[in-house]
Amino acid sequence: ATPTALMVGTGRGAQLGILIKGPEVLESTRKVDTIVLDKTGTVTTGRMTLLSVHTAQGVEEAEVLRLAGALEKASEHPIAQAVAAGAAAKTGTLPTPEDFANVPGLGVQGVVDGHAVLVGRTKLLGEWAMSLPAELERAKAAAEAAGRTAVAVAWDGEARAVLTVADAVKDTSAEAVRRLRALGLTPILLTGDNRAVAEAVAAEVGIERVIAEVMPEDKVGVVTSLQQEGRSVAMVGDGVNDAAALARADLGLAMGTGTDAAIEAGDLTLVRGDLLAAVDAIRLARRTLGTIK
Ligand code: ADP
Ligand code: MG
Repeated sequence: ATPTALMVGTGRGAQLGILIKGPEVLESTRKVDTIVLDKTGTVTTGRMTLLSVHTAQGVEEAEVLRLAGALEKASEHPIAQAVAAGAAAKTGTLPTPEDFANVPGLGVQGVVDGHAVLVGRTKLLGEWAMSLPAELERAKAAAEAAGRTAVAVAWDGEARAVLTVADAVKDTSAEAVRRLRALGLTPILLTGDNRAVAEAVAAEVGIERVIAEVMPEDKVGVVTSLQQEGRSVAMVGDGVNDAAALARADLGLAMGTGTDAAIEAGDLTLVRGDLLAAVDAIRLARRTLGTIK
């Protein structure tokens, strides 16, 4: 394509809510045959709600919410915000943790009211040699079968509760997946969340291939291995945990509603955070570079 055509394409992109880093990006956009979609915040809204609290025997719900809510208030993760908001709504003001650390892809840990508290995946509890009692294990399995995310809460060396949270699929996601397929792309759902939740979301939007329970630092490796299969890979994401994969992909598409790290790593920004703009971007590139009229 001529430089003029590329400039026109870039300008047309801006009108469609697609910010393109440079004219050469259109070339990679035209070639992609596989599109990896992050789940939380990309296919789903990422706005989660605390739905239920399941406590072990003898544990007070109010104490679970106070300790877990206090710790999660210090994190920016969508799950953390849901837990903190739900806890504050039910129990009032939350204490400030004496100590706090984010454990990427797993949860949070810290000290609240003198208790050593963990909130997150059961894998995080496992790292501290803790596991869920049978009654909480059952609550977790039931929640996940229903497509919710189960979050474990432990303090002072014992697992004490399971919280359930869920977010909704964006209303344009299923239509976008259908159109991406119509353009000949294979969609793949990629997430750090558990398999049952990921499968439920994938089924809702019409994606067959799911890669779940991937640690943040391993998302880039998933992109690399797809490339080694000979695929030309687009990756769409919004989180800090997606940045390396966005940079590694043949085409990185960042949700404009996402984190600065994702936007900086991407080749393209979908300003409105709507997957339909990914469809527009690919159509625009093909049209600009003359593959479709
Ligand atoms: P995704 O890949 O879907 O954007 P992440 O990699 O950020 O998700 O997180 C993976 C999983 O780790 C989450 O689904 C959740 O189970 C757990 N997790 C991460 N951070 C937190 C937190 N602050 N509180 C509770 N659970 C968390
Ligand atoms: Mg995300």
